[in-house]
Amino acid sequence: MAASSGTAIHNTVEDLCNLDISDRDEGEMGWLHSTAREALERNWKAERQEFLGTPRHPRWKSEMFSKAHDGLIGALGFLFEKAGLSKRELSEVSIQSWRQVQDIVLETEATLESDCGRMMGRLDLLLLDPSSSEGGVGWIVADLKTGRPPRSGLDEKVRRQLLFYRDLAKQRSPEQNSITAEGWYSSNETIYVAHGPSILEEAIDAWESMKVTEEPFQATPSESACSFCDWKAWCPDWWISRSEGLLDGSRMFRDEVTELVRLDHDSGAALFERTTPTDQEGSLEGSDYRFGAILKGKALEQIKQFEQDESGGYLFLGSVRVDGTIVHMGDWSEILPWAPLLKSTSY
Ligand code: SF4
Repeated sequence: MAASSGTAIHNTVEDLCNLDISDRDEGEMGWLHSTAREALERNWKAERQEFLGTPRHPRWKSEMFSKAHDGLIGALGFLFEKAGLSKRELSEVSIQSWRQVQDIVLETEATLESDCGRMMGRLDLLLLDPSSSEGGVGWIVADLKTGRPPRSGLDEKVRRQLLFYRDLAKQRSPEQNSITAEGWYSSNETIYVAHGPSILEEAIDAWESMKVTEEPFQATPSESACSFCDWKAWCPDWWISRSEGLLDGSRMFRDEVTELVRLDHDSGAALFERTTPTDQEGSLEGSDYRFGAILKGKALEQIKQFEQDESGGYLFLGSVRVDGTIVHMGDWSEILPWAPLLKSTSY
């Protein structure tokens, strides 16, 4: 949902940067507020459609639209600042002022490819930087961030991402003296500049180490790595580590691999039996640990579907919420057949 909302904001900024206002009167005011809102509504609708069309999705939160609108206003504020305009309400932006913004925009959603053709980056905005101090007009590679802002400095992964865009832009335009990479965080209206030497060599090394192999990479389960790993439902090592007590299995939100014992279709009450791994290949057997669960919304629909398909087998339960001795599952959870991937399917 957060990603969809972010994409709607990104696409709206892009639409406004590329808006054709060539035949409009330069003194016209009071147009940007409604144009921005209409563009956001259009992109929001498109994202919603895509979101609901994906097989693994939670509930679409329509109430997040106003937050997205605030994010959009924050993002446009950065553009005013870079164009040398004072902070202002959208209703006070004239066509002339918006032209001033458009004049500093070199590219939106630009794809940059490394000389070797192995890596690419898709940057949000490439702007002229009239305030650059390094002789001549500089460039700014700007990445719009609609998520949570950093507490102090940029997160290391984000810093590397920004430097990567900067380095690709430099490789493409070596004559450009000054290129700055910036993360624009709309939620706290703060710009964070990424500093550091080139990281292209390291990026190429990383690319080399990601080549597809027949066997999966050596798993390195840890609390921080596994907690939010999207691969978990297909990784047998995680469940082995959990069962052996190497990973914490007592959080309020947790994942389980289970067998469904029974389900009451009307109330959504279910009984599950936790499984125990029997080998390194993802094989399981039952255990004497059972727990009750209340399923609602999407989780209830999914489990009914499994029953209807009569596929049987073990189930991966993602993001169950534990409240005392009862587990709750809803739109935030997911249920998948337990089917670890042990070999590459495309080697
Ligand atoms: S769940 Fe598996 S793939 Fe994901 S971080 Fe843990 S060990 Fe690695």
